[in-house]
Amino acid sequence: MVFPFRSIEDFRIELNPDHELFRKSVREFVENKVMPRWKEIEETNSVPQEIYQEMVAQGYTGVGIPEEYGGQGGGLTMAVILTEELSRASVALSVTVGVRDLFVVPVLKHGSEELKKKYVVPVARGEARAAHANTEPGAGSDVAGIQTTAKKVNSHYVISGRKIFITGAAEADYLLVSARTEPPRPDKRWWGITTFVVEKGWEGLKIGQRIRVMGLRGEQPYEVILDEVKVPEENVVGPLNEGFKVLMDTYDHARIGVAAQGVGIAQAAFEKALNYALQRQTFGQPLIAHGIITEKIADMYTKLQAARLLTYWAASLADKNMPEYLIAASLAKSYATEAAEWIARQAIQIHGGYGADFETGVERYLRDAIITTIYEGTNEIQKLIIARQLVRQAFGLKI
Ligand SMILES: Cc1cc2nc3c(=O)[nH]c(=O)nc-3n(C[C@H](O)[C@H](O)[C@H](O)COP(=O)(O)OP(=O)(O)OC[C@H]3O[C@@H](n4cnc5c(N)ncnc54)[C@H](O)[C@@H]3O)c2cc1C
Repeated sequence: MVFPFRSIEDFRIELNPDHELFRKSVREFVENKVMPRWKEIEETNSVPQEIYQEMVAQGYTGVGIPEEYGGQGGGLTMAVILTEELSRASVALSVTVGVRDLFVVPVLKHGSEELKKKYVVPVARGEARAAHANTEPGAGSDVAGIQTTAKKVNSHYVISGRKIFITGAAEADYLLVSARTEPPRPDKRWWGITTFVVEKGWEGLKIGQRIRVMGLRGEQPYEVILDEVKVPEENVVGPLNEGFKVLMDTYDHARIGVAAQGVGIAQAAFEKALNYALQRQTFGQPLIAHGIITEKIADMYTKLQAARLLTYWAASLADKNMPEYLIAASLAKSYATEAAEWIARQAIQIHGGYGADFETGVERYLRDAIITTIYEGTNEIQKLIIARQLVRQAFGLKI
């Protein structure tokens, strides 16, 4: 097999007719219920409650979560299909459902059986919502730099600190919170972080200001303040002081979902640009007949399909638990989100002045795409991961 992969299995994308049936049903929901309301979501900066409830009724909150924990099963590939199709209409909507992964994945992978039953089941069924609070004013990419502390007092931990850019915090019933239980070790900066489940309504937990970011209108993040929040010790997720590994494991998995957001945005922007290029006449010809526009359309389509292949490939590897999924997830996340940004930019250009007009619904793709290049590990961080994984995979070396 091609360097540095070992087997043909490493290149297989596993899709079956169930995946296609599911895609069709999500697309139908989106075309009928969401597309006609995109402007309302943008203008009110909120997802209508009845759309969210309908997604719960359709079982979307359980897609990818094992049936024994209240989910619909289907693995990451099914979740990627859902995210792509929702993002084609509204990335905010896909985030409203998808943010639960940042809670469910760490609890399912590292939490006790009690935590899984108590917290994952209601989230999967859409009876409760969840968020993930790691980023702080002084530490985003540098997760080991967090300052929030958790001090052991009898059978509790007392957590104090400030988190920022927390998606879904205002609606969340449960939050996965990272905090320092011990200072870092000189040889291990990552050591000493622990992750916890914190419930809404616990004394000392406050949801701060809503942060107005450039895209994702409908799903804006929040500041979260923890002022001596008492958390029972059984709510620790994963091994004490090794929460950094829990977090990294979570992001490795969840960033495939961000790649799928990129594919959904790119697909939407491409469809709009292609239709417009066929309809709009300049100098007596449709735009698509002008060589420069023809080339743009071909390049947009190439990047879109490459992004989709990388994303479904990463999801297939993750579903098969193959370690190569780590590098695939970063390749997919960085490529698909940058492709979405570039395709959205070209779609605006092809629409000329109308592309810059909010009413046309094209400029929003660029605002959303830029955000996808930032969260879940910025694309600069993805390049670091790609190089590290490549050298490890190929030569067994650490850089
Ligand atoms: C809309 C939105 C929603 C979010 N939702 C959540 C959420 O739900 N939960 C949560 O915990 N966080 C969330 N975040 C936070 C997000 O994960 C961070 O913003 C992101 O990880 C980057 O961290 P930072 O903003 O502190 O930037 P920094 O880490 O300060 O980085 C600044 C710049 O420097 C670059 N950089 C940093 N280190 C390196 C390096 N070693 N090499 C090269 N370049 C580097 C970065 O790529 C970036 O370009 C969200 C952010 C946004 C915008």
